[in-house]
Amino acid sequence: MGNRIITIDGPAGTGKSTVAKGIAERLGFIYLDTGALYRAAALKISSSQINPDNEEDCARVISTSTISICGDRTFIDGKDVSEEIRSSYISDLASRIATLQSVRKELISIQRSIALLSSIVAEGRDMGSVVFPDADVKFFLDAIDRERARRRYLELLDKGYNAEFKKVLTEIRRRDSRDKTRKISPLVIPKDAIVVDTTHLTREQVLSKLLEIIRLRLSD
Ligand code: C5P
Repeated sequence: MGNRIITIDGPAGTGKSTVAKGIAERLGFIYLDTGALYRAAALKISSSQINPDNEEDCARVISTSTISICGDRTFIDGKDVSEEIRSSYISDLASRIATLQSVRKELISIQRSIALLSSIVAEGRDMGSVVFPDADVKFFLDAIDRERARRRYLELLDKGYNAEFKKVLTEIRRRDSRDKTRKISPLVIPKDAIVVDTTHLTREQVLSKLLEIIRLRLSD
């Protein structure tokens, strides 16, 4: 049996990360947080002091850096940046540079090379639609924006950031709109994906629902 691929796409705050991590742990698969790669690229671009709208410069900075992930830790040139990449500034910058074709090309090659090593649970915005269109099981998680903003707000407070709910909601709406309307790899429901609305579900409920579907699909 070859490596298996499970994809989870959806907007910010739908619980993708927790659920993807939980599934990976239960099944012994690698957890691939592709948003962390975009965030790391954004951090590198920001610290390189280049114009984030200059596609050529952004792609050059990324191709000459080593961005890697190991479980839920993210590294740039060997330095652990897992906490730094979670700020609101980097969330916004990540969604800006994610509109650039050559940036996506660099990061997609990292994502596909990880899938060659092991079975994976990959979460992001274009996993089932573009990066792994032949995945074994595809999910699309969604939830109303106020609930997603509430979760993100609590997460930021928990991490020690000074957050304001209204601002978080505005940021989430801005990011959603950018992710859904960009020309390259916009956030869409991938063909054959199972859509799960997580608005009224706990993370544990989402996890057990997805695990049940995966077990049925993988045993076919
Ligand atoms: O998932 P997360 O919120 O960490 O992603 C940060 C940003 O990276 C998203 O808003 C999106 O613009 C971009 N992204 C993407 N494609 C992915 C994963 C993330 O465009 N596969």
